[in-house]
Amino acid sequence: MPELPEVETVCRGLAQNIIHKHISKVTARRRDLRVPLPANFEKALEKKEITRIARRAKYILIHLDNDAILVIHLGMSGTLILHEKLPKTFRKHDHVIIEFAPDKKSKIGYMVFHDPRRFGLMALTSKTTFAKHKLFVNLGPEPLDKKLNGEYLYTILQSSKAPVKSVIMDQRKLVGVGNIYACEALFRAHIHPERAANKVTQKEATALVVQIKKVLEAAIKSGGSTVRDYVRSSGDSGYFQHHFSVYGRKGLPCLSCKTPVSVIRQSGRSTFFCANCQK
Ligand SMILES: [Zn+2]
Repeated sequence: MPELPEVETVCRGLAQNIIHKHISKVTARRRDLRVPLPANFEKALEKKEITRIARRAKYILIHLDNDAILVIHLGMSGTLILHEKLPKTFRKHDHVIIEFAPDKKSKIGYMVFHDPRRFGLMALTSKTTFAKHKLFVNLGPEPLDKKLNGEYLYTILQSSKAPVKSVIMDQRKLVGVGNIYACEALFRAHIHPERAANKVTQKEATALVVQIKKVLEAAIKSGGSTVRDYVRSSGDSGYFQHHFSVYGRKGLPCLSCKTPVSVIRQSGRSTFFCANCQK
């Protein structure tokens, strides 16, 4: 599943390739994505220019020149693939094809949304209604935003007795900290993932914020966490595997004290941690 760094990488890839492109035609081969495509989907996008690419949590926001925003979520298995020429045959799970009018700046002619499991979505909103849209209205602050500082996180943690890992992964409290990066940040901040959130000190909350930002920024810098490529122009080789300090290292020696890394289940997800370093 793409986490925030992958989505940010996708946004940067899109920004380099499709800003100022004019959408000439939209074809939906399937409308029943996680949320069905709205009836006016094609019409709302056709003949519009892409002006800006942004991200909110794990949603990709493609701004158009008429105030509209195309919202894309990659779900569990979604990819956006840019092609110069329309493929001869479509793959089974190529659900939406967006064609661009030819221009001199880039050779990209098409964007295909491919999603075998159909947990992804495409939706429409606008700059004026965005903040109140049901997908966005309950989201907490962005992890890389200045608003997310030690004081803010400490206040959030103080209000809950739930395990600290669950609280930092709660999208209503703060967005974009998925399972991998929650494990990594807690390890680096020396906080046990099962500790009650309200038992985290102010000093620890500050250290945790610093580590959340650091692990996400490092992953963005390395182009996302996984070998799977979520967006590419045809011919690109995709992204490099990011190396984790604790995630996925069950039984291997802790990088700081050599104790074998432990794994437990929390809310149905695997939590990796060092029982010696994290208290
Ligand atoms: Zn350790």
